[in-house]
Amino acid sequence: MATKVVYFIVDGQNEQAEFRSDDSREDLKETFRAAAEAGPDDILKLYNKKGNLLNISPKLAENTPDTRYTLEVVATHCNVYFPEPHIGAQIGVDISMIESRLGQLETRVYVDNGELPTMVKDLKLKVEEFKEKLESVDHLSWLGLTKDISCGTSLKPFWDKTQSHRKTEQHSKIVFDKFKKMSCVQVTDEVREYLRKPTFDNWQWDDSEMLVLLRQMYLDLGFISKFNIEMPVLHQWLYEVYKNYNNVPFHNFKHCFMVTQMMYGLTWLIDTPSLLDDLDILILITSAICHDLDHPGYNNAYQVNAKTELALRYNDISPLENHHCSVAFEILEKHHCNIFRNLPKEQYRKVREGMIRCILGTDMAKHNEILSSFSAINNTSKFDFQNKEHKSLMMIIMMKVSDISNEARPMDVAEPWLDCLLMEFFNQLLMILIKVADISNECRPMDVAEPWLECLLQEFFNQSDVEKLEGLPVAPFMDREKVNKSSSQIGFIKYALLPLFESLGELFPVIEADIIQPVRTALDYYTDMHKALEEEKKKRDSVGDLSKQNGITQPNHIST
Ligand SMILES: [Zn+2]
Repeated sequence: MATKVVYFIVDGQNEQAEFRSDDSREDLKETFRAAAEAGPDDILKLYNKKGNLLNISPKLAENTPDTRYTLEVVATHCNVYFPEPHIGAQIGVDISMIESRLGQLETRVYVDNGELPTMVKDLKLKVEEFKEKLESVDHLSWLGLTKDISCGTSLKPFWDKTQSHRKTEQHSKIVFDKFKKMSCVQVTDEVREYLRKPTFDNWQWDDSEMLVLLRQMYLDLGFISKFNIEMPVLHQWLYEVYKNYNNVPFHNFKHCFMVTQMMYGLTWLIDTPSLLDDLDILILITSAICHDLDHPGYNNAYQVNAKTELALRYNDISPLENHHCSVAFEILEKHHCNIFRNLPKEQYRKVREGMIRCILGTDMAKHNEILSSFSAINNTSKFDFQNKEHKSLMMIIMMKVSDISNEARPMDVAEPWLDCLLMEFFNQLLMILIKVADISNECRPMDVAEPWLECLLQEFFNQSDVEKLEGLPVAPFMDREKVNKSSSQIGFIKYALLPLFESLGELFPVIEADIIQPVRTALDYYTDMHKALEEEKKKRDSVGDLSKQNGITQPNHIST
């Protein structure tokens, strides 16, 4: 078995670790722990150059001194309860003591002089600043010192406006300023064309550039003129949306962008303008942009099991999706961000209704429900939306499906039913489209898709770690001990992704090459990877048995 070397930086020091791919995960973690001088309960996080989190396992890819990973100790064991006043104590500073001493001094100075001398004012400011800094330091607020996770005693909401996974105002402002500067420059035809392709690679673009591209979609779809959207309002709206996506591994602004980009690509690919009206497309693109707003990085199961504020507010019914949607309309309620403010009332009502349906439809728990009702209505594969005869045929089929046997009725009685059913069909179609876009990573090229899978697994592992600490149920597909890339993907692609995409493919055969085929290729890729891993495991087990017999151990080596 070959020896692997990874280079990394920890606490400003260059280190390297040597291990074998048949070493155990725990051994490797021990090696990293030793390098970081971390205790057994500390949680380690490893990032690549792009800032993506990596899973510390013997499968870790080798790198070079130029592409060093970064190792961080992000939190100590969370069963230890840190009440907030003791943040300072954790790092050896007693803030409350300084504060009370400052208070006493203040009173004395007041009494003596009648006003605060500049020196005391400065000192006060410094203490305030220091406190702020402490509360925003990542390794202290990760898992939230604002959140009490002392097991079982009290379950405070994970979702918390003060959590550090929120973007800072300062960061958002920098991105927005850059975006505004770039907005004056025309996006080239080449980029506009590329933006319509499912092969689009997000990893080449930064956040401000993605904001420019989102803006370009509204321009190229003609929304600005058709719906009388004012440019400054569009900018302000995008800024608010950006601010409300959190710094979580997967459900972040980049994911919002990618889902929207896929939706945008589908719009061109299946030529939605010829079958859906402009308002429907506006609903689709806007829903895609808003569909994961303020995602905390912990899924619905966690919200429900941990009885978070969100789960309580929405009675355990799609708490996250309800929240994303509610945040979307909170933003739109602000007049200066309301891109729909010039829409007639009736149109606004339709947009709101449509967006709520689309965003709530992204709950994976509803996947099968939506898919089966869509497939039921979608029995009309070679359907021409413009053809009257086809429409009548569809009416009959849809009526059959919908269990309304109106075939025998005269046309003028059946006609209003047609409208209702068509509407139902279109509503289902909108939901399906947004679902497809939401889980479309696997139809991207491998070098675009694979880092996304790593981000998703990282978010899952974060959640399952917390669930274990809190004594909550852990879903096997999120458990770092039970899941690997290939096993997580095979089931998902086979049972969730392909049926959904194939169902859409029956209606729009044009998506076969660009959307469905890459998913099949990905399935083959992960199946092969899985087989190889299984074989390696078998080999390892037999080698392990031999080593045990001979009393051989394989020590890890670490050097600076
Ligand atoms: Zn999503």
